[in-house]
Amino acid sequence: MGTRAREIVGMDVNELLRLLNEAYASEWLAHYQYWLGAKLIKGPMKDAVAAELTLHATEELNHAVMVSNRIIQLGGTPVTDPKDWQAISPCKYDAPNDPYVAVLLDQNISGEQCAISTYKALMDATNGKDMITYNMALTILEQEVEHEEDLQSLKEDLELMVIRGSR
Ligand code: FE
Ligand code: FE
Ligand code: MG
Repeated sequence: MGTRAREIVGMDVNELLRLLNEAYASEWLAHYQYWLGAKLIKGPMKDAVAAELTLHATEELNHAVMVSNRIIQLGGTPVTDPKDWQAISPCKYDAPNDPYVAVLLDQNISGEQCAISTYKALMDATNGKDMITYNMALTILEQEVEHEEDLQSLKEDLELMVIRGSR
């Protein structure tokens, strides 16, 4: 733990650690949802979509690394047991039980929209109080915004292909 680092946080550190652990649990669920979805995917454009899902899986894991580092710096402990991830995460885990490309895209778009709200809330909570967490949340938020757009644009391409193909 960084003792001085903890002292300069201008908000309740335990509350901050709770928010950080929520984000941490969400990142692991997002990682797994993308990672497995990329392997199971079926349907048109599956190779292009799988490549994006695999890249996002890696990026979500990197978010978990960043958030866990901040939790440890502040003297907290990242959620130790995976069985607690779903209960702690504010974003739900959507199992890729239906591997059709459009279904996986929709599930992951919802996940990104939840992640965007989570990091926006973390920025609002830390603004002017903990600039290190604020800055980290901004870095991650920028990537979640990119993820949402990547998936929505793939969904749009898929829809155009399916509509034009049926004429
Ligand atoms: Fe993420
Ligand atoms: Fe994301
Ligand atoms: Mg991307």
